[in-house]
Amino acid sequence: MTGNNQHDYSRLCIHTITTRPWAFEKAAVSFAKAGVRGISVWRDALQGREIAEVRRLLESLQLDIVSLCRGGFFPSTDPKRRSAAIDDNLKAIDEAASLGAPLVVLVCGSAPDQSLAESRKQIKDGIAACLGHAKSAKVRLAIEPLHPMYAAERSAINTLEQANDMAESLNSPWVGIALDVYHVWWDPDLEKEIMRCGRSGNLAAFHICDWKSPMLDMLNDRGLMGEGCINIRQISNWVDNAGFSGFREVEIFSTSYWQQDQEKFLEKIKLAYLEHI
Ligand code: ZN
Repeated sequence: MTGNNQHDYSRLCIHTITTRPWAFEKAAVSFAKAGVRGISVWRDALQGREIAEVRRLLESLQLDIVSLCRGGFFPSTDPKRRSAAIDDNLKAIDEAASLGAPLVVLVCGSAPDQSLAESRKQIKDGIAACLGHAKSAKVRLAIEPLHPMYAAERSAINTLEQANDMAESLNSPWVGIALDVYHVWWDPDLEKEIMRCGRSGNLAAFHICDWKSPMLDMLNDRGLMGEGCINIRQISNWVDNAGFSGFREVEIFSTSYWQQDQEKFLEKIKLAYLEHI
């Protein structure tokens, strides 16, 4: 059995949304004090703050800034909204560059009043329209395949195979893939597609949490690692075997955990990380 050495948090990253009740500064200081080494910043955490100051704080805490979440939402039947989405993604790239985040995670989007194929085409066009800016800002865009239950509104990219196809066809060092166990754990082709993703150099980020059964809410009832039915260690080993050596990012949206003491939740995250990865 592989796993972490005791107390090895060198690859542990936490998303700011995971401890949403905490103000950004409180989250950053608490993560650093707990020995967490990486942080992924959600754009809402930047609201009303000077990005340069946020960056200084994170650097002074010696936290690695892993990614900015999130861009995307490209598809729409309305061309004005598609163009506004591209503008917003260009802005996200600028924010990531100011923050010192090497990656913007994309929730690619979907429009229920058009076909998935059309939404996928608009996603590809939208990403392509941002690539020049991504390159000059040296910020990579990561396509995150989302579970098929979100296909109508949140993403028309629903399997790692589709994400691999799109990343490979865009064929740019500024495009990669964010793999989230929550979205892909059920996929019979997962191991094969993770290896493919690694071979093509597209594996850019790895998100962890668990899938609870029963699940009370499609969005905000994610489990802590070990609380659900995902074999996280197996997927994590596949990801490592595919050549990925980056952070394992804890991304949990949970109304239930958000109502609890966040200090205790952070301790639970650390224990679950050691036990289940
Ligand atoms: Zn994710």
